[in-house]
Amino acid sequence: MAESLSARRPRSGVADRASRPLVVGSGIAGLYVALRCRELGLRPTIVTKARLEESNTRYAQGGIAAAIGPDDSPARHLADTVRAGAGLVDRAAAKVLTSEAPARIADLVRYGVPFDTVEGKIALGREAAHTRSRLLHAGGDATGYSIEETLKQRLIAEGVEARERTTLRALRPGSRDGPVAVLSHADGSGVEVESPRPVVLATGGIGSLYLQSSNPSVATGEGMAIAFRAGALVSDMEFVQFHPTAFAREGAPRFLVTEAMRGEGAVLRNEAGERFLVGQHPDAELAPRDVVARAIQREIQRSAIRWVYLDATGLPRDRLFARFPSVTSFLLAHGIDPSREMIPVAPVAHYMVGGVTTDLEGRTSIPGLFAVGEVAATGVHGANRLGSNSLVEGLVFGERVARRLRAPVAGAPREPARTLLVPALDGEGRPEEMRVLGEIRAALWEEVGIERDAEGLGEALERFERIGRQVEPAGPTVLAGPVANAALTSSLVARAALERTESRGAHYRRDYPEPRPAWRQHLGLRRRPAARGGR
Ligand SMILES: Cc1cc2nc3c(=O)[nH]c(=O)nc-3n(C[C@H](O)[C@H](O)[C@H](O)COP(=O)(O)OP(=O)(O)OC[C@H]3O[C@@H](n4cnc5c(N)ncnc54)[C@H](O)[C@@H]3O)c2cc1C
Repeated sequence: MAESLSARRPRSGVADRASRPLVVGSGIAGLYVALRCRELGLRPTIVTKARLEESNTRYAQGGIAAAIGPDDSPARHLADTVRAGAGLVDRAAAKVLTSEAPARIADLVRYGVPFDTVEGKIALGREAAHTRSRLLHAGGDATGYSIEETLKQRLIAEGVEARERTTLRALRPGSRDGPVAVLSHADGSGVEVESPRPVVLATGGIGSLYLQSSNPSVATGEGMAIAFRAGALVSDMEFVQFHPTAFAREGAPRFLVTEAMRGEGAVLRNEAGERFLVGQHPDAELAPRDVVARAIQREIQRSAIRWVYLDATGLPRDRLFARFPSVTSFLLAHGIDPSREMIPVAPVAHYMVGGVTTDLEGRTSIPGLFAVGEVAATGVHGANRLGSNSLVEGLVFGERVARRLRAPVAGAPREPARTLLVPALDGEGRPEEMRVLGEIRAALWEEVGIERDAEGLGEALERFERIGRQVEPAGPTVLAGPVANAALTSSLVARAALERTESRGAHYRRDYPEPRPAWRQHLGLRRRPAARGGR
């Protein structure tokens, strides 16, 4: 998979590169940044490694959070976000998110996102850990699909240059304007080296690196590996959120059964039919996601079956099918009528809290490199994301990135006091074998999953680094492939999880089951600069 840069075709320089940002990724964050750049008078190009619409965004179900209800306020939304984040939320970032969310929702309405309404007013749903109904949804549980399609159509109508099946492969040192992006094309037409210009990473999360995941296959954390290799600071990599309830029938896709169904009254039962969360947490099934995911995992380990049951049979059938059309039609297609039968569910890797560290305007530690959406770590989610805060994050910080691109001013995120310098691996540049991805995915799930300990994390880290040493390119003129990127991103998650000797939010250590005050801080990771040369 490694490719040589000797075949490169330099792109012709452009007079005003600063006004021509390259946006990488076409989920909510990338599409919105590109659109807003266009509206602000810039000439963005968007590239994406699959079809434009393929992204985590497209599969989002429950909703998008904003304090627009009569009994709600940004201050309440802020308080809920801070509470969910288990002591690590960056308050300034969360304040930005919650106070600017309503204006960004107005943008979506202006673009034509068909949010569901009741008697002419936008309908608002509820999810765990939100103290008010504040989730806007569209097409019942097709919120992400509606947003993705609307933004995509708008992007096409605005004539924004969009290149599908075009993958960011590397970032090289550039100029004041930004880094040099190296792109490759799925049609085999070779590698393209861009002139230095602002680059916006909107490449999403890492979910599909895990064996069990709710994410589509494009969510491989490549943006994080590429940025880290280029010298960017990353942080909060240990905080991977697991969603408690994905469909769990052998051979079927791990389709998410949205938390909003529990918000509507569905309950969880074990093999014996008991509501096992009652008594474990005051909010029972609406306890924070990490609590519910761990409780289910333990039930599964205790039982003879590989799932527990989500029981929605107590909900009115009409309401169930009207509110959750995607989930119910998926279940019917797999032989389950949720108004009559219980749904087998199990936890899956779902959302990456950490990523490329940014300030409040998306600036990373590399001049001209921005990050936004799930690939970014603004600190807004702390140690655990409040459900439905991620779609809106892409909009709120996307707007800030677009405005900063129009009026560039240098700036960089603050480095966490605790930042590890990670030695660069001496790559042997061996050819990549795709089967190794299976080994990485299994090790992440088993050892860097819902519950972790030092022994498993140490073994996993060693394994990821061994794979990395074999396949990392041996020199600066060769490009890393998907296995090298997967090994690198996985090693960053394992290293951070090993270093954080406590349990907090989405990160749970069997050997350190409590939070520790000394760890009430973010953990950064940065590549140790090579002694000479380097890539
Ligand atoms: C099943 C499911 C349900 C969810 N439900 C909700 C919900 O109800 N509410 C909520 O707020 N959040 C939800 N989430 C989370 C939310 O969908 C994501 O966090 C959010 O959509 C991320 O948006 P993004 O634009 O950052 O990334 P994505 O939407 O994942 O987009 C990333 C883009 O980058 C592209 N890409 C990746 N690497 C490269 C590369 N090297 N070169 C070029 N392109 C690249 C991908 O192809 C993709 O187009 C859900 C997630 C899933 C999977």
